[in-house]
Amino acid sequence: MLCVVFGPWVGLLAAVVHTVAYLQLNAAVNAIAHTFGRQPYDNGATNLQWLAWITSGEGLHNNHHAAPTSAKLAFGPGEVDPAWPAIAGLRRLRLATVRSTGPRPHTERVEADAAA
Ligand SMILES: [Zn+2]
Repeated sequence: MLCVVFGPWVGLLAAVVHTVAYLQLNAAVNAIAHTFGRQPYDNGATNLQWLAWITSGEGLHNNHHAAPTSAKLAFGPGEVDPAWPAIAGLRRLRLATVRSTGPRPHTERVEADAAA
């Protein structure tokens, strides 16, 4: 589609840039968000808000591991999932179905236990 709109070379360049950025950000989530950051839930992943801003919320990877089927990845105060407003808007327009928006009821936050 980009080739039709912008011509073959710009379209090809845009496709290459998109592919490389997608792969690099995916690798960043799997490498960085399993090493550095907060762990509000008891699993091997971490939350990094700055990474969440550039990966549409996937930087909140500890939350993703706690609730792998959740469309919303921000559960605690100070956490922002940049993709959630778009998903919620699509749901309001009946263009998306959201099955889960958080961790299962028995999943407790480790940080909440530590603060109590
Ligand atoms: Zn992971």
